[in-house]
Amino acid sequence: MTDWQPLATSLAEQLQLPPGEVRATPVHGGDINQAWKLELGDREFFVKLNRPERLPMFDAERAGLEAIRHSASLRVPEVFLTGQMAGHAVIVMEFIELAGQVDAGRLAVALAAMHNCFNDRFGFYADNTIGSTAQVNTFNNDWIDFWRRHRLSFQLELAARNHLDSSLIDRGYRLAGELDKFFTTYQPRPSLLHGDLWSGNQAADLQGNPVVYDPACYFGDHEADLAMMELFGHPGKRFFASYSEHFPVDADYPRRRELYNLYHVLNHANLFGGGYGAQARRMIEMLLVQ
Ligand code: ADP
Repeated sequence: MTDWQPLATSLAEQLQLPPGEVRATPVHGGDINQAWKLELGDREFFVKLNRPERLPMFDAERAGLEAIRHSASLRVPEVFLTGQMAGHAVIVMEFIELAGQVDAGRLAVALAAMHNCFNDRFGFYADNTIGSTAQVNTFNNDWIDFWRRHRLSFQLELAARNHLDSSLIDRGYRLAGELDKFFTTYQPRPSLLHGDLWSGNQAADLQGNPVVYDPACYFGDHEADLAMMELFGHPGKRFFASYSEHFPVDADYPRRRELYNLYHVLNHANLFGGGYGAQARRMIEMLLVQ
């Protein structure tokens, strides 16, 4: 059990809050960190804790949340601080009362607005994490090269270190050498992406505004975010109809969807093993014959 007093005292000092009663309630649903609702006097905070050496992960999460906030599109929690306190790495942000399922139409409009924020290159100001795996975001003018190096090959190198099936790795590298074929008539632009947009990282606030959290932001092809939304579920036809009114979706998106989701399935294979390796192998074979 966490002793909240030292952390609350340090927080009160840094945020210049008057000392007050402290109440901490665990928040469930995350994969990586301990999450809490912290009430300090009459203020409420959402706090995540991890081991001290994980502070860069929280700094990168902060950079992503601030980039989305700056885009004035999807609601994200305001971050108050990241740091090491009382023996933990900590990120402290606005507590948002979440009211469940997000409306597909409203999500589509806000997400398209975020994707309409462009950078001049692919990548991000900071490396971050996808799940608990490192995600490299070195800026690059060339999307295909970026995806090959920092997404596919990075996961394949990890797979080799994790001793996953060698044929999966060989076939994966072969695919990495064939990426040009997916982009013969399509040139992605560097859109601001959430980067980890599965249904567990989105909700609605009490006013029904879509809220997203726990991002793995970078500037990349908007289709990568759309694909992830379809990996473990489906946002629905209404979502795509509204989204396309604000950001047209290329007719060949379904071909690239599997390519983009392969990254996440490989990441799952590296993190959790199980059937994800076989799923990644099936996806690679399908993509190789396209
Ligand atoms: P993790 O980094 O461990 O995956 P998340 O950032 O996904 O943790 O947060 C865990 C859960 O806490 C989420 O699934 C969501 O329900 C809730 N949550 C996330 N951010 C906030 C917030 N700012 N205010 C209130 N609840 C939040």
